[in-house]
Amino acid sequence: MPFTSPVADVRFLLDKVLGYDRLAETDTFAEAGADVTEAILSELGRLCDEVLAPVNRNGDLTPAKLENGVVRTSPGFKDAYQAIAEGGWLGISATPEFGGMGLPQTLNTAMNEMMSGANLALQLCPLLSQGQIEALEHHASDELKALYLPKLISGQWTGSMNLTEPQAGSDVGALSTKAVEKDDGTFAITGQKIYITWGDHDVAENVCHLVLARLPDAAPGTKGISLFMVPKLIPDAEGNPGERNDLRVVSLEHKLGIHGSPTCVMSFEGAKGWMVGKPNGGMAAMFTMMNNARLGVGTQGIGVAEAAYQHALAYAQERKQGKTPMGNTAIIDHADVRRMLAVMRAEIFAARAIALECGLALDMGKATGKDSWKARAALLTPIAKAHGTDIGCEVASMGVQVHGGMGFIEETGAAQYFRDVRITPIYEGTNGIQAMDLVARKMMDGGEAAARLLQEVQDNAEAARGTLPELAEATWEASETLREATEWLVAQEMNERFAGAVPYLRAFARVLGAHYHLKAAMVDPEGGRARLARVFIERILPEHAALLAQARSGAGPLYDLSVEDLQTA
Ligand SMILES: Cc1cc2nc3c(=O)[nH]c(=O)nc-3n(C[C@H](O)[C@H](O)[C@H](O)COP(=O)(O)OP(=O)(O)OC[C@H]3O[C@@H](n4cnc5c(N)ncnc54)[C@H](O)[C@@H]3O)c2cc1C
Repeated sequence: MPFTSPVADVRFLLDKVLGYDRLAETDTFAEAGADVTEAILSELGRLCDEVLAPVNRNGDLTPAKLENGVVRTSPGFKDAYQAIAEGGWLGISATPEFGGMGLPQTLNTAMNEMMSGANLALQLCPLLSQGQIEALEHHASDELKALYLPKLISGQWTGSMNLTEPQAGSDVGALSTKAVEKDDGTFAITGQKIYITWGDHDVAENVCHLVLARLPDAAPGTKGISLFMVPKLIPDAEGNPGERNDLRVVSLEHKLGIHGSPTCVMSFEGAKGWMVGKPNGGMAAMFTMMNNARLGVGTQGIGVAEAAYQHALAYAQERKQGKTPMGNTAIIDHADVRRMLAVMRAEIFAARAIALECGLALDMGKATGKDSWKARAALLTPIAKAHGTDIGCEVASMGVQVHGGMGFIEETGAAQYFRDVRITPIYEGTNGIQAMDLVARKMMDGGEAAARLLQEVQDNAEAARGTLPELAEATWEASETLREATEWLVAQEMNERFAGAVPYLRAFARVLGAHYHLKAAMVDPEGGRARLARVFIERILPEHAALLAQARSGAGPLYDLSVEDLQTA
């Protein structure tokens, strides 16, 4: 489906709003100057628009299928994946020691968004490899690194992530896959995993499964989980794919969307595995992969939102229906259609800014070693994931609405975006779980990281008062309400926080969205960015007050409404 990567919008955010140029001043990212960034984004845009997007529809119409125990991917997916691998895109942020480019996570974040807009089902494959690369860089032995990292970074092999079992979804600690040590120091892995994305395929020569399992004497819950590398084909002495491991794809799931992404039920039948990290330290190691994937999944929502928006905008300029205030013009001139398009664009801008800021905080944390940047990245990760994916669903739904009846008819492609993006608030930790992470673990500092960020929002609003007084005042007021709500929140016991976690996270995203829009408006207070900021701040930001009222309502009223009430009241 036609797609134009939002290179100019990303550049604007990096250069004019987020202060990306700070990275090139550090030793770690000295290579990431303006020229390199421009070249990378332009080349990525070409790949996404000309190679990945044209086969997106194939994934929907001709899903991946299981044939004689082997997964065959959708037409064109193999060539498109090869183009990603040959371009070196899998290792954009990976360590140069094993063939990566060592570029900032911020650029990787922009890349993931563009690829997702072009072809979400296919993008999942490199996304999982990226996460696995990072997990191995941090936790694997030197031998495992030397064997697997060059192949994963070059894209010759791909990575998958195996947590979920039928009884262990959000509650990963309930998993029961077993790992028994053998005489040669390897482990025999036995168990069933479900919903394993790109668990098998024909686009590359090997699949490297990172599998969570329990040692025989392990403690119950998450404390007793270890992590293992379990390749589909066991590398021989030269590191080439050798004999088949004892694992197989039992079936592929039938899904609402992302039909081009093979979602596998995997059976490990005494498969040979190598431990990654320490015994019973599997969750910590897997968290490296999960945090990487959380930001990546946030960008998936934004990417699909961008694609859905582009389609809706084009349709609204062609379709004529009724008289608009401008005469016999297209539906884009009806106030309500204009409203939908304006909201879609304003939402995408805000969610993209949050995700890129999260990437930037990760990079600044790595480059400076400062805890304040690390805490900011940790705070922003659940917001980037949950808000990016919620906006993905809302914008894709509006995209269908702009198309009217044609949105519900498959051939426009609007429906595919809507179906494809629906998984993103669910996997990689549901958005409810993300919100709970925000109000619990990410507030263990008593709300300090949040307070520092809100101080920046208020300082910026103060600075904007002279030029854009109304927008600045609304942003300042909203951040003050959020600051007060955060102080209230950290004084509550956990279940009170959890009851309001989702609206709290959304309110936080609303305030951050206003902040980035205001910064953009200040670049050219008479220009289009300022007009877009006005839409966000006047139409969308006010939602924060209602959301924070919900957040403060607490658990009481929810539990007072009994299960019986839910059935009869
Ligand atoms: C297409 C697809 C691809 C996937 N890819 C992978 C993959 O590659 N690897 C992998 O390991 N897994 C994968 N998953 C699994 C995915 O991560 C899980 O589905 C997800 O984490 C939710 O688990 P669950 O489905 O068991 O839902 P449940 O955990 O049963 O959740 C049901 C509902 O209860 C809520 N809930 C659960 N626990 C709590 C709690 N403590 N507090 C509040 N609310 C709670 C949830 O938010 C949700 O709304 C994939 C799933 C799908 C559908």
